[in-house]
This record gives sequence, structure tokens and C-alpha cells, in this order.
Amino acid sequence: MTDSKNAPTPRKVALVTGSSRGLGRAVALKLAADGFDVAVHYGRNAAEAEKAAAEAREHGVRAEVFGADLSAPAHATQLVEAVIVQMGRLDVLVNNAGITRDGLAVRMKDEDWDAVIQTNLSSAFAACRAALKHMMRARSGRIVNIASVVGLTGNAGQANYVASKAGLIGLTRALAKEYGGRGITVNAVAPGFIQSDMTAALPEGVQKGYLDSIPLARFGQPEEVAALVAFLASEGAGYITGQTVGVDGGLNPS
Ligand code: NAP
Repeated sequence: MTDSKNAPTPRKVALVTGSSRGLGRAVALKLAADGFDVAVHYGRNAAEAEKAAAEAREHGVRAEVFGADLSAPAHATQLVEAVIVQMGRLDVLVNNAGITRDGLAVRMKDEDWDAVIQTNLSSAFAACRAALKHMMRARSGRIVNIASVVGLTGNAGQANYVASKAGLIGLTRALAKEYGGRGITVNAVAPGFIQSDMTAALPEGVQKGYLDSIPLARFGQPEEVAALVAFLASEGAGYITGQTVGVDGGLNPS
């Protein structure tokens, strides 16, 4: 006879977009270490995503790999639906996948504007919408959107990226108000300069300029962003919603 009181609690499932590399990978691994089953998502780097999933499994959790090109928001919807079907539930959504297409506004091509807005903002919205439908039925859920310090401060040469990140912060606030009553929290994290492929691609002079303006006098590590995301996904953060929290070495004190 089964004693339902002693049945094991099913593990919660977290989807982290763009977890084949960089910040997303560190977030997926931290959530796995904290006991979540994880959906590792990639755009182009399937092999890296498989490696991240294998590392996540070392924590004794389930980790599955999902591919989706998030330059098209419809794919974000399909991704969330596929995770729910394959993994049985979705408790945490981390919208992390993002790109830059930097350039001065007067010279910015429509395609560079559109690519950044579609990937960073429209796909995050589509993923939130699909996840919220599921989380509303469960009357619980956590969404964490990876924004950026420049979404708060602005930055020359990044009109498209800044608009996408400021949009994510606004989306976070709106959804927090709309779904708080359903037990769902929605927060944003605003990293400063974190060491990853994205920042390694910046010219040395630009990197040096950032370094000089960071009070903690060093770049951040992906694990330092992951620690905050994991906290926002945890039980302990149950009364925090609609917030944008910086991980920026003091670059933009709020
Ligand atoms: P990254 O090293 O360039 O990694 C980007 C991730 O996003 C990869 O996993 C990539 O997947 C995925 N991705 C990009 N375009 C995609 C697409 N069209 N479809 C599906 N997946 C796609 O970047 P990162 O530095 O880790 O940044 C992660 C997030 O943090 C971004 O939203 C970024 O804006 C934000 N952020 C970063 C910093 C920083 O200093 N690094 C600062 C502030 C905010 P594949 O490789 O598999 O294609």
C-alpha cells in the first residue's frame, strides 16, 4: 500500500534560456545544485548544452536539452510548451538568452534593431506568456528576466540593446502586478560587466573603460549572477516581486 503522505515530493523544474554558455550556463548549474530539474536551452551550440546538462546531472537531478532559435518569438512559445510536455511541469523560467548588435543609432540598420528586440524582448515576452498560463493553473511560479545595468542607465552605441533591456524591466514590473495574485513572482536581474563570450568580444579599450568605473575594481563572474537568480527562484524570495536587482560591482548604486 502506498502512503501518499510519504510519497517523495516531485522536484521542481527550471528552464533557463541560453544556458549552453555564459551566465545562463552558470544559472542552470546553480539551480541543479539547489535541487531543480533543469531544461538546458541552446540556440546554436548543441554540444555545449549537452555538456552543461551532463554537468547538471552530477547533482543528481534530471537535465534535458532543448534547442530553439529565439530570434523568432513563436519558437519561445514552442520551447516552453515542449519543456512542460517533456518534463511534466515548469516552476521557474529564467529568460537569459540575449544578443548585442552594437552601433550608433543614426547608422543602425532596421535588421539590427529588430534582431535585438525580437531575441531579447519579444521572445522573453512569448516565453513568459506561455509559462504564465501553466503557472497560473499551479498557482505558483517564478520568473527571472536577465536585463542589464544599461537598461537602467542607458549606454551610447547600444540603443537597440538598451531598449530591449529597459523593456524587460518594464515587462517584469507589469507582470509582477498582473500575476502576483496567482502566487507568481516576476523579477529582473541587472548584471554589470560579467566575464563571458559576450563581453570578451568588446574591444580592450572599452573593457578597460568599464573596469575603471567599477567600484569593486574587477569584472563579475557568471556564478555571481547565478547566486542571485537562484535566490530569487528560492522559497526564501517568496515576498519579492517586480524588482530589478543589480549585480554590477557598484557600477549603478540604486
Ligand atoms: P553569451 O555568452 O553571448 O551567451 C548567450 C546565450 O544566449 C547563449 O547560450 C546563446 O546560445 C543564447 N542565444 C543567443 N542568441 C540566441 C538565439 N537567437 N536563440 C537561442 N539562443 C540564443 O552571453 P552572456 O554574457 O552569458 O549573457 C547572457 C545574458 O545576460 C544576456 O541576456 C545578456 O544580455 C545579459 N547580460 C550580460 C552581461 C555580461 O556582462 N556578460 C551584462 C548584462 C547583461 P547558443 O550559444 O547556443 O546559440
